Amino acid sequence: MDTKAMYALSYGLYVVAAKNDDRINGQIANTVFQISSDPVTVAVSINKQNLTHEFITASGKFSVSILAQETPLEFIGHFGFHSGRDLDKFANVNWIKSPAGLPYLSENTVSCLEASVVDQIDVHTHTVFIGTITDAKVLTNAKPMTYAYYHQIKRGTTPKTAPTYQKQEMPPAANDSSSSGKYQCQVCKYIYDPEQGDPERNIPLGTPFDKLPVDWKCPICGAPKEAFVAL
Ligand code: FE
Repeated sequence: MDTKAMYALSYGLYVVAAKNDDRINGQIANTVFQISSDPVTVAVSINKQNLTHEFITASGKFSVSILAQETPLEFIGHFGFHSGRDLDKFANVNWIKSPAGLPYLSENTVSCLEASVVDQIDVHTHTVFIGTITDAKVLTNAKPMTYAYYHQIKRGTTPKTAPTYQKQEMPPAANDSSSSGKYQCQVCKYIYDPEQGDPERNIPLGTPFDKLPVDWKCPICGAPKEAFVAL
């Protein structure tokens, strides 16, 4: 089976958010799609480990902010490579409240949807939530981000919790043109310098990037090694 066949499937890039009492949280999702028009109904696949999953399950509602093509990687990384258990992801971004009080992003966003869950399906690591649309809002006429654009043009990466994650989808660039030995995180722009190592994680000075442990992560954003490219 050639799982690269899956790469031909098309997606967008979204922030799916939910509210639980006074707390709000959101995460990147690429699997949001309309499945019925009367009433307008969408589905989204969310990893069971994620805080957003907990919030949608508890509240029965979710919102979708459809990201614009020019959304910075850092903004995507903020929602995609961090857990709402560690930080308030909406603390330093611009957002407005949907009629039900859920967050609609008001930056880097083309349009927003609010949905009420009418069914959910257990799918291994994920739950597919099916929601009828209770509100919809167009913010700009900017182009929406496609998943292909995110990967091919912006060199974005996918966390392991994504439904479409594939191992080695973006292996580190070969060392051919690299003379500095430095590698840069494409999510947060952090540069790994072998001369400095990563003392906080007991990586000694002089450790080349390819000798870092496979589970080493970006010290800033927590992105995996695959998110780094040679400078
Ligand atoms: Fe990073």
